[in-house]
Amino acid sequence: LGLASTLASRRKRLKAAALVDGDNRVVAHRLCIRCGASLRGQIVDEGCPSCAHPIYDSIYGAFLIDSSPLEPKRLRRRSDMVYYPALFLGTLTLIGLIMTAAASRSFVHAVNGLFNVGLFFAMLAPLVALVGLLVFTGRHSIEYYQARYFNAPALIKHGVLLVVVFVALCFAFHYIESFTAAVLRVAFGTLPVALFLQRLGRLMGRVPSRKLSSASQLAAVIAVLLGIAALGVLLLRRAAPGNRELEGFLVTLTFMTTLGGIGLGCFILRLLYLARRTLRAVAC
Ligand SMILES: [Zn+2]
Repeated sequence: LGLASTLASRRKRLKAAALVDGDNRVVAHRLCIRCGASLRGQIVDEGCPSCAHPIYDSIYGAFLIDSSPLEPKRLRRRSDMVYYPALFLGTLTLIGLIMTAAASRSFVHAVNGLFNVGLFFAMLAPLVALVGLLVFTGRHSIEYYQARYFNAPALIKHGVLLVVVFVALCFAFHYIESFTAAVLRVAFGTLPVALFLQRLGRLMGRVPSRKLSSASQLAAVIAVLLGIAALGVLLLRRAAPGNRELEGFLVTLTFMTTLGGIGLGCFILRLLYLARRTLRAVAC
């Protein structure tokens, strides 16, 4: 453990060395998270030349306990915009799962029904996650995004990327329709949630709460793994009929994925609850 933490701090120093030079001057291309001004050449311990926001916060992310008391209060309020919708969605999912289980004729029928209901509600989770990304864990102002993305080189770069992705998707839909549809469906359900959890982990790291931070990062990884498992279920459903061995494996995979999904849902709700409580503790 000692070696691991030594390595981690060494890596942090190396990373920090690339951002600022020996005189604490910012050498990397970084923008102020408040106003979007370029910070290259500024001293990291000073304020932004345009808006006076601490440069340290834009470069490293200041600890919440060091920032103004308004910041944790604001975050605590905004956490409600994620927590209550997530709780509502969780309750709806639970009701859906119980009703499906009660109406099932057999074990296999129940497993498939529960997976379908779980997947349906998982498709609503990205909406809550996007709110979380925008208002809760996002630290950057509109001005920052304007400065970063609304300039010719960035617009051209992202425009080209969009066109390439769009053409690739059209191509994939034309030739391998069902596969692409399954991938897109799972990616839509998984990626915003995983990204939100990863950001939540970073926010909890700034509280600082190492325990909640690692728990959020772990949840993000589990979300991606469950997404891959769900993709496996969707694809196997096309391949399995008629093949006894595959059918047995499919039931097991569906069962495990559904159980994992229910577990992750509970874990995320618990995380959000603890994050709110921690932010409230920091705020007062
Ligand atoms: Zn600024």
